[in-house]
This record gives sequence, C-alpha cells and structure tokens, in this order.
Amino acid sequence: MKQIREISALEENFRKKVSAWLEKCKNAGVEIFLTETFRPQERQNELFAQGRTAPGKIVTWTKNSMHTKKLAVDIAFAGAELYPRNHKKWEKIAEIGKDLGIDWSFDLFKVEKCHFQCDGSKFKEKPVFDGVPEWAQKSCQKMQDLKIITKDFNDTMPTFRFAVILDKFLDYLGK
Ligand SMILES: [Zn+2]
Repeated sequence: MKQIREISALEENFRKKVSAWLEKCKNAGVEIFLTETFRPQERQNELFAQGRTAPGKIVTWTKNSMHTKKLAVDIAFAGAELYPRNHKKWEKIAEIGKDLGIDWSFDLFKVEKCHFQCDGSKFKEKPVFDGVPEWAQKSCQKMQDLKIITKDFNDTMPTFRFAVILDKFLDYLGK
C-alpha cells in the first residue's frame, strides 16, 4: 500500500498547523516537504509486520501511530540532502514547529527525526509498550527491577528497542 503525502489528508486543525509550519520554515530559509501524512490502519499494519512477520527491516514500533489518526507527518528537506546529517538543521525546524503546536518525535522519543506530530496527544503519554508483546513488557519490567535498564522516561526508547530485539530473538528460536 502506497503512502499518502497530501496535506489535505490531515485532520483539519493539525493541517493548519502543518501548513503554517511549512510556510514559516520556508521564510526562515529552510524548505521541507511532506513524505507521508495520513496512514490508513491497513498500511500501518503492513509496516508493523515488516521485520516481524514479513521480510525487511523493522520500521515502526507501533500499530497505534498518530499517522492513522491524521495527526502526524513525515518530512524531508528539499535539496541535495533529504535527511541532513547536521543536527542543527533539524533543531531549527523543530523549534519553529514547537511554537505552532507540533511535537518532534526526536524530542519525545529520541528516534525518527523525520516524524512530527500534533502536540498534547495520548500517544505522548503512553509511548512505551504499544505493540510490544506482554511477555516482552514483563522482561523489560524485570530488567528495570534489576536496574539493568533505568526507569527514566527518556530511556523508554532503548527499553522498547530491547523488547523488539528480544521478540525477534524468540521468533528466531521458534517460541
Ligand atoms: Zn511518522
């Protein structure tokens, strides 16, 4: 299933924010464009399966993406470098977005620099174990108890990653 890039596919209020954001970035001398907006659940499920039950690399950590709620966008930079290595360039557009009520995935979860979403979302409150099997959650809890991993909120992404790795490993062993 192909991705949808149209800004018109977004929820109305968020669409206005994104539209203003693109404009402001442009005025600030940075041109960015949308690579994906609304993602039907069917496509999210396909992406979730990738690297798990289907071939390929893991590209998402949730079936509950804000894209499916029309409240997230993925972006790239116009010009030679679609995803600049210079972190400052990302910070610049994230700063502009923040003022407009757009959260940067990298601020929230320390991953996915290209992902931005509507702020104040439920997703933000419960980012940790969406789509992670219960046994993996328990393993992570155990690791937290043993202080192998910390409980610090900023460490939720490593926790999640570890759960994915465990999951894959058990798949490999044929659990
Ligand atoms: Zn995204």
